[in-house]
This record gives sequence, structure tokens and C-alpha cells, in this order.
Amino acid sequence: MQTTMHENADTQFFLDLEEKYGAHNYHPLPVVLSKGQGVYVWDVEGKRYYDFLSGYSAVNQGHCHPAIIETLVKQAQVLTLTSRAFYNNILGAYESFITQYFGYDKVLPMNTGVEAVETALKLARKWAYEVKGVEPLKAKIIVCAQNFHGRTLGVISFSTDPASKQNYGPYLPGFQVIPYNDLTALEAAIQDKDTAAFLFEPIQGEAGVVVPDAGYYKGIRDLCTQHNVLMMADEIQTGLCRTGRMLACDHEDVKPDVLILGKALSGGTLPVSAVLANDEIMLTIKPGEHGSTYGGNPLACAVAIKALQVLKEENMAENAEALGTYFRAELKKIDSEHIQVRGMGLLNAIIIKHPNPNAAWELCLALKENGLLAKPTHGDKIRFAPPLLITKAQIDECIQIIKKSIEVLHY
Ligand code: PLP
Repeated sequence: MQTTMHENADTQFFLDLEEKYGAHNYHPLPVVLSKGQGVYVWDVEGKRYYDFLSGYSAVNQGHCHPAIIETLVKQAQVLTLTSRAFYNNILGAYESFITQYFGYDKVLPMNTGVEAVETALKLARKWAYEVKGVEPLKAKIIVCAQNFHGRTLGVISFSTDPASKQNYGPYLPGFQVIPYNDLTALEAAIQDKDTAAFLFEPIQGEAGVVVPDAGYYKGIRDLCTQHNVLMMADEIQTGLCRTGRMLACDHEDVKPDVLILGKALSGGTLPVSAVLANDEIMLTIKPGEHGSTYGGNPLACAVAIKALQVLKEENMAENAEALGTYFRAELKKIDSEHIQVRGMGLLNAIIIKHPNPNAAWELCLALKENGLLAKPTHGDKIRFAPPLLITKAQIDECIQIIKKSIEVLHY
């Protein structure tokens, strides 16, 4: 069996290797990356690109951030995993740090984003039965159409995207889907006394960066408070400075009852996610009732503390806010009837209006040729979400690349 890392192979070699041996559950752009630093990545032929996906916002702090990597390497040499059968000397420090950082009583550490969402759903049901007094098996969780909260069976049970859902049934019951950005629909659905929670994304990232109307978060907060329903914000993609604030909910000074984080919690180094809530909610889960072998491992905890420190030390929220505003303004100056721009902070997208259904894909190929990596979502939307340490000069260069690439839409 050959296990070499194929140091001198070219792009086509790696495309063929993945095609032959990997499951075909993704359709990547044909670029093979072998190095990353800050806002840049390099392919196996040595070509440099701006990374405008940032690992779906997991790499907010930039690729291989030196302080995060230093912490990762240092902790990896000392202790990586104990399981939760024993205590370790990093977990408590992390728990104390992250709860103070976000202002909650408790944290429950998990690994991937979807595991944190599942944890939040379980917490909501527990709380509904044990605190709110909902009758057994009646608890309802309200969610939004066009949501994306991950890929487990529980979570895809309330997806409205056929590609995520088709032929995976039977699905988990207990969810009601309402339109996104619709407080009237929420008000109607929340009247049901069995409602445990409302789960939402402050901006729908996977749906193509759908930004709700101003006042949406405040409206959700008010309705949830009035009806004793948990407000559960999935900030896995919008959180950790991406939208120009530490959390997207901070734009309206709103605090969710359950905060769900992932992705950039490790600065793109390993899967680290978390659910934060106060005692009344979190203490409904007792020993043995939920967990994960890797959740709260010392390596993840050490890295997460550093990843969170870096966000504040390097003013990443302020940079995302200022450069996001500038970036959208510059994008809107590009003279093309084929694009529409939207976003918040450095979570942005262009919507492609073009008779060719492959136009967005072809534009991404042109962007790649010109040195910028981005990926279409739902066929006609392209997310532009660079690492948050990008500079104005780099944004200017990227605008030139985008401008030049958009010419492919005009043939
Ligand atoms: N929730 C949101 C809002 C996301 O954007 C994602 C991933 O894109 C997830 C949950 C799932 O995270 P993961 O892929 O780490 O399971």
C-alpha cells in the first residue's frame, strides 16, 4: 500500500486521486492547495490566491495564525486528549474564559458545528420538559426556511433544501418551519404553548448571505421573552467578528438564551464548537446524559482560548466592519447588470443574474485564474468572505481581480 504524500505531483494527479478514492459528496473547484498564510493560500504548482471563502468562515483569524499555531504545537506536545472520564488542567480554564468572554453561566464543549446545534436542540427539549413544563414528547422547535445548520439526520430533518434531505428519511419530528425574516410568522407559531425554542441564523450564510431586516433580532428577543421560549442563535458562521461585531446579534444588542459557536473558535486548526447558556438551561443536562469523546479536549481548549484572544487583540471586528463597508461600496461600483451585492461586515455575496445557469461557476473559475478563490452556493450566489485581517490595499487588489473576472459574464 502506497502512503506517500506525493510531494511533487501536479493538480490533475490530486484531482484524480480524490475522484477515485473519496466519496463524491463535494464538488470542489479544481485547485489543490498545499499552503496557507494569512489571507493567502498556494496551490501545488506554487500559484498564490486570495482566499475568499476562509474555510466557510472557520479561518477568520487568517491561515496558520502564528500565535494560534504556537499554542497548538505547544499543547500538542504536552497533552491532547484525556476524555471526560477524567479532569484535565485546561478545560476549566477554557470554560471560565469563554463564559466570561460571552457572558453566560456555562459552556458545553463539542467539536463540529452540527454537534453543537444538536446539543442546543437537546437542551431546548430538556428545558421544555423539565423547566417550562411541556407535556412529554410534545416539545416543538421553530426553525426557518432555507436554514443551514449542518448535516446530521436530526438537523436535516428540518432542512428545506432537497439536496440536503432527499432519500434520508424518515425524519425527526418536532419542528415547525416558518419563513426567515418574518416576525409575524414567528408570532403566530410561538403561540403554541409547547414551543421550546426558536433556532435561527442571524444571517443565512449557506442560503447565499441573506441579511434580515433591521430589528429582526430585537423582535425575536421580545417574542421569545414574552412567550417563555428559548432564543437560540446559530452564530457558527456569523459569529467571532465575521459580520463586524463579535456576534451578529450584537448589532442589535441582543443576547440569545442559547449561543451556538463553531468554525473560527479554533481559527481553522481543528473542529471546536460550543454551546453557551445560563444555569437554568444548561443544568438540565446531568452526568451521562450527553457528551463527546473529543469535546473539551485540552488541545481544543488551549487553541480556542488563543483563537478568541487573537480576535480581540487584533481588532478583527472593527476591521471586518470598516473593510466590509468599503468592499461592498467598491463592489457596487462595478458596472454590471449581472450582479447584485449584499452582506454585513466581511460576510458578503454577489448574486449572479445571468441566462447561463453555470455563470456563477464560470465566474469562480475566472476568479481562480486571476488569483482569488471563491465558491458558488445554490448555483447563482458567490460568497466573498476573506480572513478578517485583510488590509485595504489587499481589498483594492481583490476588487480589481473581481472586476476583471466579471468580464466572463459579458460574452
Ligand atoms: N450552522 C451554520 C450556520 C453553518 O454555517 C454550518 C456550516 O457551514 C454549520 C452549522 C455546521 O457546521 P459543521 O460543518 O462544522 O458541522
